[in-house]
Amino acid sequence: MHSDLTAPRPKIAVSACLMGQPVRYNGGHKQSTLCSQTLADYFDFVPLCPEVAIGLGTPREPIRLVGDPQAPRAVGTVHGDNDVTQALADYGQQMAGQLTDICGYIFMQKSPSCGLARVKVYQSNGAPAEHAGRGIYAQAFCARHPDLPVEEDGRLNDPVLRENFLTRVFAYAAWQQLCAQGLSRRALTEFHARYKYQLMAHNPEQYKTLGKLLGSMGKADPHAVAPRYFRALMAALKQCATRRTHTNVLQHLSGYLKQAISRDDKREVQHLIGQYHQGIVPLVVPLTLLKHHLRHHPDPYLAQQVYLQPHPENLSLRNAI
Ligand code: SF4
Repeated sequence: MHSDLTAPRPKIAVSACLMGQPVRYNGGHKQSTLCSQTLADYFDFVPLCPEVAIGLGTPREPIRLVGDPQAPRAVGTVHGDNDVTQALADYGQQMAGQLTDICGYIFMQKSPSCGLARVKVYQSNGAPAEHAGRGIYAQAFCARHPDLPVEEDGRLNDPVLRENFLTRVFAYAAWQQLCAQGLSRRALTEFHARYKYQLMAHNPEQYKTLGKLLGSMGKADPHAVAPRYFRALMAALKQCATRRTHTNVLQHLSGYLKQAISRDDKREVQHLIGQYHQGIVPLVVPLTLLKHHLRHHPDPYLAQQVYLQPHPENLSLRNAI
């Protein structure tokens, strides 16, 4: 499904320094191999540097967060009266209004502008406050896009967080496509059905709750239900799937093959699911065998399941979890 490189690629916004652009305060960059190489074939990146955009030159005096970690100010490290808080927040709102077609955002960590969390906030005595804050620009941007998958580049080194983030990015892209094609009660119900096993891996309770939400739609306007559905879906997918929940889904998938494959084949499937559960092999191993059998014994309901291919196979995201 995702192997077609001619299909429109989802757009992801990214801190420009992560793409290798020399926009940092010292004229350097923070090129990320993930953004500039690994993901480059699959996404169209929109690089943004809020500090340069608001007119701070390169090189420039670095800024830092000061004051209340809940509502910090961004000021110059040398000239503390140089306060760019409002300019960064305004630019965040402006870009959030303009970038309505992105499916995710990868931010640079620790930055007083772009950091999503754990950014140092300095007190008047010069020491960092006990509680950390959020970058001013990132905070303003995210407030306008609460369902958008967002992550910091550093955290994406973690294979589980990386796989989770990209699963959400593709879910977001699929939702945008659904909305562009026109929402109907039927389209919503079919969308939910396709996410059954994906949701079971992330949050089985939410699969049921969301099913009930759509079931109670009656004759209501699907446009009224859709935002609530999507918000809950994205929140559920944010919860990382675990070895236990994946194992549960694999068992459900293997159930479809019960009548179709031989006893030896079933034993092999169970053996690999067990090995995955114990952490001996990654998720791709039992899934590849299951997909092999499903190709020979296709099931129309399973064929449309997002869980079987939530992101391009060549990204190898399931080889590392
Ligand atoms: S972290 Fe954000 S503000 Fe700082 S250089 Fe990178 S893109 Fe620009």
